[in-house]
Amino acid sequence: MPGIEIGRWRFRTKADAQRHIRCILSGADINKYLDGEGLEFVLALLDQHQRRGVITCNGILHVVVELLNNGRRRFAVIHKDEYGRPRRRDFSWRHVLYPRSQAQRVMHVCRGLIAEQKEAFRASCPQTITCLCGAVLDRSKCHIDHQPPATFEKLFWNWVALMRVDVEEMALIDYAEYQRETEFEDDIFAVQWQEYHEINARLRCLCPRCNLSATRKKEVACA
Ligand SMILES: [Zn+2]
Repeated sequence: MPGIEIGRWRFRTKADAQRHIRCILSGADINKYLDGEGLEFVLALLDQHQRRGVITCNGILHVVVELLNNGRRRFAVIHKDEYGRPRRRDFSWRHVLYPRSQAQRVMHVCRGLIAEQKEAFRASCPQTITCLCGAVLDRSKCHIDHQPPATFEKLFWNWVALMRVDVEEMALIDYAEYQRETEFEDDIFAVQWQEYHEINARLRCLCPRCNLSATRKKEVACA
């Protein structure tokens, strides 16, 4: 099995690298500047990131670990922006271990563009939902999913075929700002995709367990 090298660290497998990263995340104090080996490792990790340009911007001042509302932890940098001001920006370590293809990146942008449609669908549902599995839950707790066979992926690829554009040619813009999502350079793609999705998607409410059971990747615990 091919190993993975991050700075002066060498891991036998990606799972080993992931375990090391999770240990840094779980061992760090929230929002405290990383130092020592932890900092050195994260900087080496960043160096291998596909979007290091926008993450680094005009130089990294500090690295911190953030705690999200869902209890998960992630890395964020405080970098110098284009005016030399300190700005915070999060980044995904997963993208270093598992680089995204252009198609995956375009799909991710498209997912973000339908968030409002999903929320509108949720608001149109009865207050109490019965999931396929029989679980009864409040609509606010549901996950909104695409009803098969028109899954998100299918709709996406049908739309791409309809647009007669190669996904490799769909230019994306990454922003250096904190929590600002990647967008299509050409707004027409966003508008057309939203229209296509509005007309063709059949959404449904599922309990989180049913929605995630098929998609959740196996998490690697901290050793
Ligand atoms: Zn269910």
